[in-house]
Amino acid sequence: MKFLANLKCNHTRASFREYAKILDENLSANDDVTVFPPFSALDLVAHKFKLGAQNFYPCESGAHTGEIGKAMLDEFGVKSVLIGHSERRELGESEELLRAKFGFAVKAGWQIVYCIGENLSVNEAGRTKEFLAEQLKNIDLGYKRLLIAYEPIWAIGTGKSASTEQIENVLNFIREQTSAPLLYGGSVNVANIGRIADIENCDGVLVGTASWDATKFLELMRVVSHRYTSLS
Ligand code: PEP
Repeated sequence: MKFLANLKCNHTRASFREYAKILDENLSANDDVTVFPPFSALDLVAHKFKLGAQNFYPCESGAHTGEIGKAMLDEFGVKSVLIGHSERRELGESEELLRAKFGFAVKAGWQIVYCIGENLSVNEAGRTKEFLAEQLKNIDLGYKRLLIAYEPIWAIGTGKSASTEQIENVLNFIREQTSAPLLYGGSVNVANIGRIADIENCDGVLVGTASWDATKFLELMRVVSHRYTSLS
């Protein structure tokens, strides 16, 4: 089970040092964890988790004010990137830019966590699959280092996760189109991680709010590993 932490605009360099220390003290070699801190907290320390970038501009370097390119990410050994997160789409990232970012990341050989998800009105209109199929048309579903995160917008940061049936239904639909690992994201917490981890095509979770405190994030992993230990 993959555990991805999107720290968003949280953690200073100093507080991330503490965060990383807690993870390093508690993670084992079998844990598959990637943390996406703010750029200013990226570090050169060897961790028991992978470091990822929440964003990047599809360039090596250049005249792109306020952006981060591959040269800067290479310096920190970052090889995993989020693309298509709804909070970036809301800031105006177009399908065209997402395509450019995807193509650039493929050329760089990065692991891509491609986020897709519908808003409440699309969901309520029963058009979720149609909408997601359109979003997926934008990318190469055969890319070897692709992970797809299904993140319904109405579930992100709201405390209201999608139901097991909704997640299962959508992940089965995506699975028909790709063998890439599939993640769920949207108000994952200690109370719902057990049922989410049990969903057949769910290979991991992308966690926002419940990952910002390292101890709480570890608690999610403990719930899952205890469940699997007690089942075996
Ligand atoms: C996210 O932003 O990717 C996310 C899943 O956030 P949250 O866990 O807070 O819903």
